[in-house]
Amino acid sequence: MVRRLALSVEVVTVRRAELDLRNESQVMEFLGDQRVDAVVDAAAVVGGIEANRRHPYPFLMDNLRIQNSLIQASVDLGIRRFVFLGSSCIYPKLAPQPLREEYLLTGPLEETNQWYAIAKIAGVKAVEAVRAHYGMPYVSLMPTNLYGPGDNFDPTTSHVLPGMMRKMHQAKTNGGAVELWGSGSPLREFLHVDDLARAVEWALGVEASDDLYNVGSGHEVSIRELASLMSSVVGFDGELRWDASMPDGTPRKLLDSGRLRAEGWKPEIPLVDGIRATYTWFLENQESLRNVTL
Ligand code: GDP
Repeated sequence: MVRRLALSVEVVTVRRAELDLRNESQVMEFLGDQRVDAVVDAAAVVGGIEANRRHPYPFLMDNLRIQNSLIQASVDLGIRRFVFLGSSCIYPKLAPQPLREEYLLTGPLEETNQWYAIAKIAGVKAVEAVRAHYGMPYVSLMPTNLYGPGDNFDPTTSHVLPGMMRKMHQAKTNGGAVELWGSGSPLREFLHVDDLARAVEWALGVEASDDLYNVGSGHEVSIRELASLMSSVVGFDGELRWDASMPDGTPRKLLDSGRLRAEGWKPEIPLVDGIRATYTWFLENQESLRNVTL
């Protein structure tokens, strides 16, 4: 994201060790010193289905605290542009598909990621409230399952695409079978992070007329299909085992991204090309992969 945005604007980032985003006064001081024109809230405690299930408190509370301090400090400093990033898991588990923005809060959430979803719904509502109360054009973008360079490839805490890539690469290198989770039948929609970065660029450059926009590729595959695509990219031809004791999560979460497409954005990176590019990045950066522990 930063790599891509830095092509068009000056980007200020800060490491977790230097600034605790949960601390509003520290955030206020940092943003005040930097005199930024816009804030992109891409910071969150995130992880795959298992990380979410095992760490309810940080997935709910740390995320609320991070977004609250960023939004409050931005409002107090009069920063007019704010892009809040969330996730397609904010929508009800059994909402009609593809998921439209107006389905928010029309039914119960998927249990495995409810903690993250509740925090992100609060952020979407905070953005809506800022617009209504202060008239500032803050905006929320809800991406589908993202992947790409710089992702978390830790097999226990990651999302399925990077986790699967690493497991298959290891099995190809060391031998042995690959264990995947659930039944393989859930459908997921994947978006390369560079496609999301172009949506963020759009959001920073306009006064968006809506407060909430879905950002998806419009193309869904089953986890089993993803496994077969990944095997061919990685060159893994060994055995796949499906661990039925692990959860499937929601059966389907395809976004309707028509609202954003009507503004001229469209995804540009087909899944197989994105996976190939991400595997190349993975091979070049194996020594320095982020291992996210929670
Ligand atoms: P979700 O989209 O919030 O459900 O999050 P994930 O990306 O973690 O999981 C998506 C689907 O992939 C779920 O049905 C998982 O059970 C399935 N899956 C299969 N193998 C794996 C794996 O190795 N890691 C992860 N994270 N998910 C896996």
